[in-house]
Amino acid sequence: PRATVDVLVVGSGGAGFAAAVSAFDNGAKVMLIEKEPVIGGNAKLAAGGMNAAMTKQQAAKGIKDSLELMTEDTMKGGRNINDPALVKVLVEDSAGSVDWMTGMGADLSDVGRMGGASVNRTHRPTGGAGVGAHVVQVLYDNAKKRNIDMRMNTRGVEVLKDDSGKVTGMLVKGQYTGYYWVKADAVVLATGGFGKNNERVAKLDPKLKGFRATNHPGATGDGLDVAENAGAAMQDLKYIQAHPTLSTKGGVMVTEAVRGNGAILVNREGKRFVNEITTRDKAAAAILKQTGGTAFLVFDDSVRKSLKKIEKYIGLGVVPSNASAVELGKVMGIDGNNLKATIAHYNDMVAAGKDSDFERPQLPRALNEGNYYAIEVNPGVHHTMGGVKIDNQSEILNQQGQTIPGLYGAGEVTGGVHGANRLGGNAISDIITFGRLAGKNAAEYATK
Ligand code: ADP
Repeated sequence: PRATVDVLVVGSGGAGFAAAVSAFDNGAKVMLIEKEPVIGGNAKLAAGGMNAAMTKQQAAKGIKDSLELMTEDTMKGGRNINDPALVKVLVEDSAGSVDWMTGMGADLSDVGRMGGASVNRTHRPTGGAGVGAHVVQVLYDNAKKRNIDMRMNTRGVEVLKDDSGKVTGMLVKGQYTGYYWVKADAVVLATGGFGKNNERVAKLDPKLKGFRATNHPGATGDGLDVAENAGAAMQDLKYIQAHPTLSTKGGVMVTEAVRGNGAILVNREGKRFVNEITTRDKAAAAILKQTGGTAFLVFDDSVRKSLKKIEKYIGLGVVPSNASAVELGKVMGIDGNNLKATIAHYNDMVAAGKDSDFERPQLPRALNEGNYYAIEVNPGVHHTMGGVKIDNQSEILNQQGQTIPGLYGAGEVTGGVHGANRLGGNAISDIITFGRLAGKNAAEYATK
């Protein structure tokens, strides 16, 4: 099955598909390979949304945002170690990326907010469909429409180069066909992160040893080894994000929007302990400090009604009870009267419009309608911020800071965009923007 193409894309997550479609639309013959039997990587699991500033969707809702504000939020979330040149691309191209996806059939018209954002800028489908699955489906449909050669069960093993160091293709291994060579003038690495590889994770951050992960099974980081063998420099590998709220039953990731829409976090003493919509690293650290290292997301029927996705958690049986606060406390194994007092006090603060305990900046609703629910949660590995070093053209750099001719990188396999901590909603933005850029530049390079 030897083949010759202009651009070979490695990985079928959002970054890989965006790169493949964009390379095709910029005139290249494209092949995409994926080591797993199914497409979508971690991208298809993303529940939050796509952050973008100054979009038509925001304007239609009267939301005032600015490029400066999105830059500030992203840098602050990343503890200011993000590569400013990459953040500039992420922010300035974000509205264009939403338009690009919308033009290909995506619905990103609902605009909500996730942790660390100053205004509503998380674009997502209306009706509560998962943004990742939607975006991957739209990109896959578009790749199919273009007749792009897509090969599953095919692993990128080694980037091949000529004597001058230029990329000439890749050695790949098909599960059924064995090793073969794909000739290509440009290769885009879009192989994702390594959150599912706890050995690799714990080596870089021993605190995370034994942690569960929200990731798909292929998030093992072999793409990083491929890149390293090809001479790529790495950056920020030790920054690994734990998603603060995985249900302790089944490890289902409970989207940040549950808190965004009004749920509070309560410990085994029945008390709040943190601003629930702080950044992920801070929320995760706060939960781990509580008795037993877990906490409960507590909400009522008004929060339940406000977010379709909650039905999924209820369907999965991770919500232990629907009852009064005191009864719920019993089911949770904590003091129900404390819980009741905590909720009453929280409701007073909602009425006053100010959280004087933890300075939660947004208090969407009181918790006083119908039944109460609780989901026990603790953190799990979610996203690996570090990876291959790229420049603002998505070109992979070597140790000397020089480009490796013909080698591009995009998405979670790269480092620098998110610094030490990624904001919710910035991953989809990252993979679309940099995938699209890598595809375009790879196509121009390969066909010139
Ligand atoms: P992103 O969000 O950056 O697009 P994803 O995790 O969604 O990243 O997608 C990366 C994809 O790349 C996954 O489907 C993963 O299985 C695939 N992949 C990882 N390493 C390889 C490899 N060496 N060869 C082919 N595919 C790979």
